[in-house]
Amino acid sequence: MLNPAPVYRGRLAPSPTGLLHAGHARTFWIATERARAAHGRLALRNDDLDQARCRPEFVTAMQEDLHWLGLTWEEPMVSQSARIPLYRAALARLHAAGLIFPCARSRRDVLSAAGAPHEAEEADEPIYPAQFRPAPDTPLPPLTDPIGINWRLRVPDGESLSFTDGHFGRQQAVAGRDFGDFLVWRKDDMPSYQLACVVDDAAMRITEVVRGADLIQSTFRQLLLYRALGLDAPAFYHCPLVTDDQGVRLAKRQDALALRTIRAQGKTPTEMIAGWSTPDTWLGR
Ligand code: GLU
Repeated sequence: MLNPAPVYRGRLAPSPTGLLHAGHARTFWIATERARAAHGRLALRNDDLDQARCRPEFVTAMQEDLHWLGLTWEEPMVSQSARIPLYRAALARLHAAGLIFPCARSRRDVLSAAGAPHEAEEADEPIYPAQFRPAPDTPLPPLTDPIGINWRLRVPDGESLSFTDGHFGRQQAVAGRDFGDFLVWRKDDMPSYQLACVVDDAAMRITEVVRGADLIQSTFRQLLLYRALGLDAPAFYHCPLVTDDQGVRLAKRQDALALRTIRAQGKTPTEMIAGWSTPDTWLGR
């Protein structure tokens, strides 16, 4: 008997570090429309691992704002902070396979050796300098509990990676050149975004990840984690970032228009959505 086609499963994964702005709203709306077009399901994931920046009032606000926009999801919200043991189990697998190494260097050390400005504006991690990497045959110390040191994935230097993005088409990167050994666990005993995201997208059986184009470089790192953990990777659809009239990325603007400001100004969700003038191709039609 033929297996039925897998049901489309998408997710909205906001971080409650501030109020959602119009850029988030458009990405989440595209994610919703793609799930709808595929007669699929959508889950809401609360990416609340950044303890210093995440706040409970933003969790409530993001749900209210998404509902105001008319976006709905079928399953109870999942919070990453409640799933640490799952990420820790994945870390233990990476450790057992010898794919990670402990790193006592500070972010400042890495930035100076990588020749990156200290106040690097980009959220992307600097390329980890080869001279900081332990030799491959260095015995790994055990994982402690709690973990008090950063752990990084040793990337396969020079390997060319590619995936076909649902919106941008074929994407390519070379490990060790376009990105380096990246964090999987932090010395404050928290998983990195990359590890938590892969473990969750796999556990939630997500078939397509829809998110902003600023995360395309992260997708390559995540593909390495899927492989290292023996998990199937989902499809990826990255949305072009929203810019203002001057071409400045919305998320980078101090006053990035919060949805609630737009709403207080009297704009309706219908007007917002109409303003995005999304071509049909974005929705897979
Ligand atoms: N929570 C992440 C963010 O808001 C997005 C994660 C993802 O979609 O993979 O930037």
